[in-house]
Amino acid sequence: MDYILSIDQGTTSSRAVVFDRAGQPVAIAQREFAQHFPQPGWVEHDAHEIWQTQLAVMQEALLWAGISAKQLRAIGLTNQRETTVLWDRQTGEPVAPAIVWQDRRTVAHCEALRAAGLADKIARKTGLVLDAYFSGTKLAWLLDHVPGARARAERGELAFGTVDSWLVWKLTGGRVHATDPSNASRTLLFNLKQGAWDPELLAMLRIPKEVLPQVLPSCGVVAETEAALLGVSVSIAGWAGDQQAALFGQACFAPGMAKNTYGTGCFMLMNTGSKPVVSRHRLLSTVAWQGPASSEHARAYALEGSVFMAGATVQWLRDGLQLIQSAPEVEALAASVADTGDVFLVPAFAGLGAPDWDGQARGTLLGMTRGTTRAHIARAALEAIALQTADVFQAMSADSDLLLQELRVDGGACRNNLLMQIQADVLGVSVVRSQVSETTALGAAYLAGLATGFWSGADEISAQWQEERRFEPQWTASQRSERQARWRQAVNRAKKWAV
Ligand code: ADP
Repeated sequence: MDYILSIDQGTTSSRAVVFDRAGQPVAIAQREFAQHFPQPGWVEHDAHEIWQTQLAVMQEALLWAGISAKQLRAIGLTNQRETTVLWDRQTGEPVAPAIVWQDRRTVAHCEALRAAGLADKIARKTGLVLDAYFSGTKLAWLLDHVPGARARAERGELAFGTVDSWLVWKLTGGRVHATDPSNASRTLLFNLKQGAWDPELLAMLRIPKEVLPQVLPSCGVVAETEAALLGVSVSIAGWAGDQQAALFGQACFAPGMAKNTYGTGCFMLMNTGSKPVVSRHRLLSTVAWQGPASSEHARAYALEGSVFMAGATVQWLRDGLQLIQSAPEVEALAASVADTGDVFLVPAFAGLGAPDWDGQARGTLLGMTRGTTRAHIARAALEAIALQTADVFQAMSADSDLLLQELRVDGGACRNNLLMQIQADVLGVSVVRSQVSETTALGAAYLAGLATGFWSGADEISAQWQEERRFEPQWTASQRSERQARWRQAVNRAKKWAV
């Protein structure tokens, strides 16, 4: 039993990765699935398709690794977070399409809760900003809009789950209805401090407790898979939401360790230790993972901040402005000038996330002169990704009173060396790129491997984690503070534009 199979169920594709004892990926399989946009602002997935593509890639990954399921010690699972599924416990049929995290249909419900003065209480209990992004109002919407759903839910006939719960239900042939604390802490229904569903939150959102999954540790045996699926039954022994799994995969086990994932947007998470931090800068507080009470991975919390437009800014240079033909080309173009020539791009195309949270901010390009070229704009785009990340980083440091020593990085856009150098310059700390790029899947594998003794403990994993390249800051402190002050001026000009 020399391998761990990691299930990585993402927003646009289902993936499966086989890892060996050295934490190296041996085989990867991936299938995309359909995105449904039935109305403006709505985003849905077919829960069946999620399951079918996931099962197919699990089987493919084993095939490509040239191994049988008998050689698996355990399965780890990580998933797109907040996406909401409601299904019939008897038939296993979803009662409606899954409502994806990006879906905005419950904005009005959130506004009504805010108008009723509940936002502060919800934030205090859940660590979250009251927003349609999270699962709670999505579940309430299903209960209110699917005919008969509320009455059936109250009779205990329906099961709610995020994608982790749905997959474990399917993997166990409907025997296990559970979730882990990292996923539960994204629902608006979970008491962050107590680590349990909160009756008061359930009442506020009118959610009957009968629909809820049992909460089981992120690191620990959750269930055994149906033997028919892979040939033999395998233990599912570790699971966490995708961003928390990436934090684990980056071996950020100690308080003050942080990672940033540079994809379409950026997701930065910092381990804050055994107590949740109440953010004063509108970051999210969330469960990072939870192991058995006695273990070194007994509940850990994280602060989380996201940047909406990161790699997507580069996509805009490519598709919107047609300055480049492919995303990687941005690096050479931006490197052809020594600086931005005091040009700033504030990519608030979809408003601004943490710490500014301004839905009315819009994209702004400032400081151009006759000498400005597309290279300056490309460089300003990369700087904007780094400067937005620095805003979140500073908010985290201030919230947690922890001195961040370095930032571990992953995601598609972290391959850009110039961007990573600018990031180190802007932050004033080292930026460290890990050798394994599949950090999300690796985190789930680590959780499962630790639970089953495949790896001995955090020390073994920390030793296994390897940096591929380290970027050291080269700017002076005054260069950094001047640049940041100028950036804040630019951000202020982008704010409240779409009023
Ligand atoms: P996601 O998981 O969000 O789809 P990925 O981790 O696959 O994202 O990263 C893709 C994103 O990274 C795209 O937005 C793309 O524009 C950007 N990207 C890819 N390569 C580079 C590069 N070399 N420089 C800058 N951005 C890049």
